[in-house]
Amino acid sequence: MEEIYLDNSATTKVCKSAADQALYAMRECYGNPSSLYSLGLNAERLIERTRRAVAQKLHCRPEEIVFTGCGTESNNTAVFGAARSLQKRGRRIVTTAVEHPSVARPMDQLEKEGFEVVRLPVDREGKIQPEEIFNAVTKDTILVSMMLVNNETGAIFPVSAAAEAIKKIGAPALLHCDAVQAFGKLPIDPKKLGVDLLSASGHKLHAPKGIGVLYKSEKAHIQPLLLGGGQEKGFRSGTESVPLIAALGGAISELPEESVGLQNMQKLWNYAKESLLKLPGAALNSPDDCLPYLINISLAGYRSETLLHFLEADGIFVSSGSACSKGKLSGVLSAMGLPAARVDSALRISFSRYNKTEDIDKLCESLERAAKRLKKRG
Ligand code: PLP
Repeated sequence: MEEIYLDNSATTKVCKSAADQALYAMRECYGNPSSLYSLGLNAERLIERTRRAVAQKLHCRPEEIVFTGCGTESNNTAVFGAARSLQKRGRRIVTTAVEHPSVARPMDQLEKEGFEVVRLPVDREGKIQPEEIFNAVTKDTILVSMMLVNNETGAIFPVSAAAEAIKKIGAPALLHCDAVQAFGKLPIDPKKLGVDLLSASGHKLHAPKGIGVLYKSEKAHIQPLLLGGGQEKGFRSGTESVPLIAALGGAISELPEESVGLQNMQKLWNYAKESLLKLPGAALNSPDDCLPYLINISLAGYRSETLLHFLEADGIFVSSGSACSKGKLSGVLSAMGLPAARVDSALRISFSRYNKTEDIDKLCESLERAAKRLKKRG
């Protein structure tokens, strides 16, 4: 049975160029990139090549790119690093109620340490209203952290409004954006968006797990999380993972232009929406103008966990929410004010360039069979 992988917001299959580059780095460029002889310099060249590729995607300078161990590390570095370096100028931090745990848990920690953390609510569609941001940012706000694309609904957040609010109010705040679900999919220009810090992660775009990116504008001064040998200009000590960085470069070289990817995904998304909403009791949890790489739906009366197992038996993989909150009810859908039964029956279906409309057909057939077999819960 051929597997149908529709959980690309959780992680993606490593593409050929990424795997080839990793193998090449491991076998041929195994020197320590800090070493001064040619084996080390060759490894360093691989790192710099990927740095330039990432910088090109973000329309920024290669010096503004820091490689980390994952999106989680990029987010932790940005949030703790900004708070620690600006704490003398204020204690207020603004974020959203629906950030990924790799932003939300550091925020909880900072709150315990005495920072005032304001969490902006989302509306019924899972969106953040710009007025909420303007009302929340004050003169003593030192950090605003807002994701670009929500990992459960695909909702796109008004990050540039946060930049405007900071400027208008004259706050000393740095603006951090978790762009893990957006990088490589939406065109991103941190300068145009007005962000100082931006996180991305390789395994969401067909590179292996364990490679993260932190864009840090030249103006942003933050304290590093890791101290040691001073690699990555002192922002991320530790010998660089050359194979994973090289693999990220390979993955980026295979990415279609964002506009092309978006056009293809929008077709797939529209097809998925139309097909899925024909299923019994189906309701859409993603806004219509979400990033078309994912769609979140609920099938009233059927528990998502149960549906997931049914689908798995047919070789189809989707998610019941975010992979990081295994077994827990989705905090994002609850924050949108959706009733518990709807949250409990949510499925997140997420696409990559390897998916086709036939995958959606098979998913819908399998869901229909499951719905017939499963007893509706009272
Ligand atoms: N931020 C968002 C929005 C995510 O979806 C994820 C992963 O699912 C992360 C951060 C964490 O990235 P990583 O798995 O590379 O630590």
